[in-house]
Amino acid sequence: MDELISVNPATGERIGAYPVLSAGALEASLARAEAGFSRWAAVPLGERVQALERLAALLRSQQHELARQVTAEMGKRFAEARAEVEKCAFACDYYAAQGPGFLADETVDTAAGRSLIAWHPLGPILLVMPWNFPYWQVLRQAIPATLAGNTVLLKHAANVPGCAAALERIFREAGYPEGVFGNLAIRSGAVAGVIADPRVRGVSLTGSEGAGRAVASAAGKALKKTVLELGGSDAFIVLADADLDGTVEQALRARFQNNGETCIAAKRFIVEAAVADDFVAGLQAGIERMKVGDPMAQDTDLGPLARADLCDELHRQVTRSVAAGAVCRTGGQRLERPGFYYAPTLLDRVVPGMAAFEEETFGPVAAVTRAADADEAVRLANASRYGLGGSVWTRDRARGEALARRLECGCAFVNGIVRSDPRLPFGGIKDSGYGRELGLLGIREFVNAKSLWID
Ligand code: NAP
Repeated sequence: MDELISVNPATGERIGAYPVLSAGALEASLARAEAGFSRWAAVPLGERVQALERLAALLRSQQHELARQVTAEMGKRFAEARAEVEKCAFACDYYAAQGPGFLADETVDTAAGRSLIAWHPLGPILLVMPWNFPYWQVLRQAIPATLAGNTVLLKHAANVPGCAAALERIFREAGYPEGVFGNLAIRSGAVAGVIADPRVRGVSLTGSEGAGRAVASAAGKALKKTVLELGGSDAFIVLADADLDGTVEQALRARFQNNGETCIAAKRFIVEAAVADDFVAGLQAGIERMKVGDPMAQDTDLGPLARADLCDELHRQVTRSVAAGAVCRTGGQRLERPGFYYAPTLLDRVVPGMAAFEEETFGPVAAVTRAADADEAVRLANASRYGLGGSVWTRDRARGEALARRLECGCAFVNGIVRSDPRLPFGGIKDSGYGRELGLLGIREFVNAKSLWID
């Protein structure tokens, strides 16, 4: 029997096995999602809000166990896993409060007696999701989609089947009717078939560029709406007038939180030449102080990567960058211990053309590129296929804002770490994907904006 295997990345040990759905069970899930949709779409919005409130309460009351599951399956530090669960609950609060306004009819003045836009659900939406925020990535799409009256089917990453099962359970416990949230334990090879199924009305993918191209092609063939949240290589621009000590502290968080496995992590530090040596020295000292170890331990700063192959791929990127002339100031190797640990690494003198500049590094590797001035820093920041986030660090907030506006990305921050917030739309441009999650725009992705004209 084919099974999805959970492995604890801190030890390399197998901790669970979950059977892959048979063809018959997959068909039954699709049928439940379709039947569930016809019932759920007719449930009054107020009742859907109440279900969301129950979901928030359960996330909070089960925070500890839910967080343990995340740390056990993908190696995130336990404190960060708890914070992820709370963020999910906060997103429930936000949409429970704001959703009814977002979904209310919008009157438009025309020659009609009355004309308006009504927001109707589309049907079952497939969510293809990654492992790095195993609850947050799913819920930031599932919460607004189901509040709008859609049902969702989750195809989660193969290495977090326990988190996927926990999500399905918690929706059930929150009182969502059958078919509103279904977990599809399937392989990625089966995704195109699900997208082609006429019962599925849209697909949202968060993941790598390769998966994005595959899912968008399948959805294109089937004429299905897609939202793609793909990889990133965010620039973190340090201007000469930045508060250097504070900026170094934030740089460490921006790169190494979530063990470096964040789409919006700062991956390219682009630093004005006048302060580059000091910035590099500060970053190096901070990296060398980091405690690498058990993600369940409170004093751990950096845990393991989620899978052995991710360690190997990261190391290849570091090795290729160094061979092309980057200077490895610290780290640069896999750690000799059980589990999938990579040493926190600082690459200096990274320039365009090197792997650490051109590719997404999904792990604890900071790459520093020196820029002559702010204009060159923006040019370098934009010299990337990706366009997810970016940040500018300066004491001059007006100048920071002017530069942030010039960054080619979906979310730009001044003196702040790029992060998602349920109140603001989140998403990328260029090879980082298209469409938006969260906020008003997020809930408007999987709805039929229906024009009504009444004479
Ligand atoms: P991934 O390998 O692309 O996997 C993401 C999901 O897509 C998984 O469920 C995976 O299933 C599935 N998948 C992979 N190839 C597929 C294919 N050809 N057809 C259909 N489905 C496919 O990405 P990951 O390693 O889990 O996550 C890391 C990537 O996600 C990074 O690039 C990161 O930047 C990106 N990410 C982006 C955002 C954002 O908001 N923009 C947020 C988080 C992560 P299997 O696990 O079964 O292969």
